[in-house]
Amino acid sequence: MTTIDTDIAVAGAGPVGLAAAAALAERGWRVLVVDPAHDGAWANNFGVWEDRLPHPEAAGRRWSRARLWYGEQRAQVLDRPYVRVRNGVLQGLLNERIKAANGRFIDAHVSRSEARPGGVSLHTNKGTVARARLVIDATGHSACLVERAPARAWQVAYGIDADLEGYEEDPDILGLMDWRPAMPGDEEPPSFLYEMPLGGRRVFLEETSLASDPPLSMPLLRARLEQRIRRRGWRVRSVHAVERCRIPLDAGLPTEPDGVVAIGGAAAQVHPATGYQLTRGLDTAQRLAEALPLDGDSATLTRAGRGAVWSMGARANRLLHLYGLDVVLGLDAEATRSFFQSFFSTGEAGWRTMLDADASPLSTAVTMLKMLTVAPSPIRRSLFSASAARRAVGLRSHSHLSESPVSGSPVSGSAGLPEEIPWRSP
Ligand SMILES: Cc1cc2nc3c(=O)[nH]c(=O)nc-3n(C[C@H](O)[C@H](O)[C@H](O)COP(=O)(O)OP(=O)(O)OC[C@H]3O[C@@H](n4cnc5c(N)ncnc54)[C@H](O)[C@@H]3O)c2cc1C
Repeated sequence: MTTIDTDIAVAGAGPVGLAAAAALAERGWRVLVVDPAHDGAWANNFGVWEDRLPHPEAAGRRWSRARLWYGEQRAQVLDRPYVRVRNGVLQGLLNERIKAANGRFIDAHVSRSEARPGGVSLHTNKGTVARARLVIDATGHSACLVERAPARAWQVAYGIDADLEGYEEDPDILGLMDWRPAMPGDEEPPSFLYEMPLGGRRVFLEETSLASDPPLSMPLLRARLEQRIRRRGWRVRSVHAVERCRIPLDAGLPTEPDGVVAIGGAAAQVHPATGYQLTRGLDTAQRLAEALPLDGDSATLTRAGRGAVWSMGARANRLLHLYGLDVVLGLDAEATRSFFQSFFSTGEAGWRTMLDADASPLSTAVTMLKMLTVAPSPIRRSLFSASAARRAVGLRSHSHLSESPVSGSPVSGSAGLPEEIPWRSP
């Protein structure tokens, strides 16, 4: 057995774990990162608003505008640039920052943590024990050290990065949400197309269920994507990558053992009504590092760390977003289209606020009220729905949670999903 003494051990080397480790090491902490492969490739295809990415060097392809379709004749274009993240660049620069600040890495799985006088012992599957004053759980939505009530609502998406014959869309416009039906008569429960033109005939297309409970099945999303491709007259020439995405939207806030602070996916920091989380996690990593007093003992660091991840304001905002999530879950396809049309007609300041998980709860509430003034009456009724209110404050029964086919499962990879069917060119 090898024992390593450190100040802070970070479990998980995803974007949020590495960002936390870098910011902490730069503030003078001795930091140890534990992950089975700290420089293994990140699988997720990340897209974010350009102005929210704290590392501009990691911005890859850029779209100056983003388009939404609410119906055959109803479209809207947002003048807010969006970028695809160059995962290798972001990961490389975070790893470099950690190394330059004398941070260390162990390639191993964390198996458990254990409180000890003055801190925490972190055990790995390779027999190493890290003794730290504070442990950060950044192991993503599967959260290896903290407990959370499992999610009921999920974002599910099936995407391909492919070359398409006949694909000639404007390369400067991101397709943020295309709510037109994949096929007339096949639109319940609703899903939309997310479209990143990558230059020439290459495109990343993803059929996405924004939020569903129970979660939409991967084969249904895949079939809808095939239908859209066929209807648009495109032909798949080659598929470079397939993404199967499952994001828990409403997992409970973490219950953390002594000396452990969760962050990122492990801390349920995902925006409950959009599934976005990357830039918020990166911001939180910096905030966490700034909040820890350098002379603090384990209990002080734990308290400060938890407060930095889930402040009272962030908790209040989360309740409002959970309310929004429940409204969305109750809408059929036509109502979903009207809802988003109303949402994006609240004006740029309004929709920016609602998309920002770290906005002030007051500005979120004001935007929600503003939506009431612009939304058609069925949407207004949904906004007032009692079930949404009950759920947001946690009064709805969780008794059927265990029946959810994917509750508690890891989000990426094909675990628990039907076998992958080879991609057919229509
Ligand atoms: C397919 C997909 C696409 C997404 N796209 C976007 C997007 O475009 N924009 C956006 O804002 N958000 C997106 N998200 C949501 C969110 O940003 C991601 O889930 C993000 O990866 C979360 O970052 P994280 O660092 O918290 O966790 P992860 O990226 O999941 O990283 C967790 C790390 O912990 C490690 N780990 C796990 N268990 C252990 C263990 N026992 N011991 C040690 N290490 C362990 C893993 O190896 C991994 O390196 C997406 C999510 C998915 C699933």
